[in-house]
Amino acid sequence: MLEAKELTKQYKGLRAVADYSVRIKQGEIRGLIGPNGAGKTTTFNLLTSLVKSTSGTIYFEGKDITGIRPDQIAEMGICRTFQNIRLFKNLTVLENVLIATQINKNYNFLSVLLSLPSFLKEEKRLINYSLEILETMGLLYAKDIKARNLPYGQQRKLEIARALAVKPKLLLLDEPAAGMNPKESLELMELIRLLRGKFKLTILLIEHDMKFVMNLCEQIQVLSYGMLIAEGTAEEIRNNPEVISAYLGRA
Ligand code: ATP
Repeated sequence: MLEAKELTKQYKGLRAVADYSVRIKQGEIRGLIGPNGAGKTTTFNLLTSLVKSTSGTIYFEGKDITGIRPDQIAEMGICRTFQNIRLFKNLTVLENVLIATQINKNYNFLSVLLSLPSFLKEEKRLINYSLEILETMGLLYAKDIKARNLPYGQQRKLEIARALAVKPKLLLLDEPAAGMNPKESLELMELIRLLRGKFKLTILLIEHDMKFVMNLCEQIQVLSYGMLIAEGTAEEIRNNPEVISAYLGRA
C-alpha cells in the first residue's frame, strides 16, 4: 500500500532522516520507534508532504506521490494525527468531527443554493457519519461538549475521530497514547484494533510507550539519529543489541 524509498531530510548540517525506506501492506499495524530526536515526526512530515524531502520517493497504492501537496495526500487517503493535540478547542466534539468531513470539499454558496435539497441530505449523511465515528470512539456521550472541556485522554481520541472523518486508508498516529494512564492506553490499543477492522485501515504509529507498541504492532521499525537501525517483530526488536544500546546510550 505504501512504499517509501530512501527518504532523506537534510537541515543544513543535520540529517534528520537518512535513507528511510518502508513497505507497508494493506491492513498492517506498523510501529515506528526511536529515542528522542531520532527522526520519527520528520518521517511522518515527509510521508504527508508537510516537509519536502531532500531526496527519495514515496509510492501510495502504486502511484508516485513524492512532492504532491498535503491536501492532495489527504484526498488520496493518507491522514495523520499530531504529537501535540490540534483540536478546535472552542467547538463541540461533534463540530470538530463534522469539519473534518468537509475537508477537500469546495462548496460555494451558489451551488449550495441551487442544490439545497441534496446539500441538506448530504449534510445529514455527514452528521450521521460523524456520530457513527464518535460512537465507535466512545465519545458519543460528549458530542455537545466543547473540545476544551474533554479530559486529556478523550481529546486524544477525538483527534483520531477527526482523522477518521477524512476517510483515510492509511492512518498515521503520532504518539496516540501520550499522556494516557495505563488503563486508557490499554483501551486505546483495543480500539485501534477495532478501527482497523471497521474502517479497513492500515496504520503506522509512533509511540514511546513500549508496551503499547510491542503488543499492538505486527512489525516495528527503529530509528536512531535519523537512520533505520532495526526492523522486525516485537520479539526481534526487543532482543536486538543495537536497539538496546541506542536506547541505553541516550538514557
Ligand atoms: P521526539 O521523539 O522527541 O518527538 P523525533 O524522533 O520525532 O523526536 P524529529 O522531531 O523528527 O524527532 O527530529 C529529528 C531531528 O531533526 C532532531 O534533531 C530535530 O531537532 C531536527 N529537526 C526537526 N525539525 C527541524 C527543523 N525544521 N529544522 C531543523 N532541525 C529540525
